[in-house]
Amino acid sequence: MNKCAIALGSNLGDSLATLENSLAVLGNTPGIDLLATSSWYQTKPVSEVPQPDYLNGCVTLNAQQTPEELLVLLQAIELQFGRVRKEKWGARTLDLDMLLYGDHQLDTPNLTIPHPRMSERAFVLVPLAEIAPDWQEPTSGKAIAQLAAKVDQSGVELYS
Ligand code: ATP
Ligand code: CA
Ligand code: CA
Repeated sequence: MNKCAIALGSNLGDSLATLENSLAVLGNTPGIDLLATSSWYQTKPVSEVPQPDYLNGCVTLNAQQTPEELLVLLQAIELQFGRVRKEKWGARTLDLDMLLYGDHQLDTPNLTIPHPRMSERAFVLVPLAEIAPDWQEPTSGKAIAQLAAKVDQSGVELYS
């Protein structure tokens, strides 16, 4: 079993329903046991592309899957919820990013773990700090709570 952290985001369609339904699908996947789910946060987009606010959250889970298998699963769930890939960082019905996979570090053409931009993203760190404050991000060796304390959290508001 490998403990993983996943970030969820949506800013198109009924985001709350999409996020909650995608969590249910993830939790019903063989080999995956959900551990903890954060609150949802309404967040200001950080992209240059103008778009609506996001809802973001994080989940921790135990997975029997390898990181590559888990990525394939996450991408299948994105498609199931209507994700259409257009411009990078554009609006989307569902984005599922693999943040952490135990203390593994991996850098392949289609998968980098830890997620390379997580340490600068309040919309990831604030929800993750709620459910995994002591987990050390292996690239920096810093705990999630420590990383969260260093970023500007002004664009991140508790939603539910
Ligand atoms: P960002 O990665 O900055 O959050 P994004 O989520 O909008 O941007 P996507 O278009 O969803 O980017 O994904 C682009 C590619 O990133 C995917 O096809 C996937 O292969 C790759 N990728 C690399 N590392 C990861 C990871 N840890 N989790 C999810 N996807 C990853
Ligand atoms: Ca993302
Ligand atoms: Ca993504």
